[in-house]
Amino acid sequence: MNIGVLSLQGNYFEHLKKIELLEFKSIKVKTKNDLFKCDGLIIPGGESTTMSKLLDYQDLRRSILDIKDKIHIMGVCAGMVLLSKTTKYNNLKTLSIMDFEVERNGWGRQINSFNKKIKLSFSAKKIMGTFIRAPKIISYNDRIECLAMIDNEPILLTDGRHLACSFHPEYSDNLSIYKYFLNLINSK
Ligand code: GLN
Repeated sequence: MNIGVLSLQGNYFEHLKKIELLEFKSIKVKTKNDLFKCDGLIIPGGESTTMSKLLDYQDLRRSILDIKDKIHIMGVCAGMVLLSKTTKYNNLKTLSIMDFEVERNGWGRQINSFNKKIKLSFSAKKIMGTFIRAPKIISYNDRIECLAMIDNEPILLTDGRHLACSFHPEYSDNLSIYKYFLNLINSK
């Protein structure tokens, strides 16, 4: 199984390391040809506006939309923003792959970055979540399942195929979220 990490901008390197740690083949995705080799794709944290522009520049937006129902995508932080159907920012065109909306930087500015222990619905062990200018989920469709919350706010969502995470699992030694994503791919 090949797991791609969108490697146009942002924190892709740490995800590639995690995939390798779990003994899956990792692929740096910069072109359509890279993408078409993948069973799963991670869209990392970074800057959603920049990544959105680079998706068009590299002609990857259409290719991702073409295969979104065949592969599985995990969006982290800026990647979560891109998976959402948020329309309120003029400088940002999301992929609209999952039916939820976010407020960018809703968990605070860079200076308000924080770590918090998080209970995941599918794991007994808590994970330390790192929130850096993280998006806050403001609404989601009732077909979407919430897998974790803090302060009564959803922070991890799945529609059964894709996964969207507000915080950065790549900074934790706990691999539960990657395992959950890899299971989603394996079970289809
Ligand atoms: N606030 C950033 C954005 O909306 C995301 C920050 C991050 O990925 N750590 O693009």
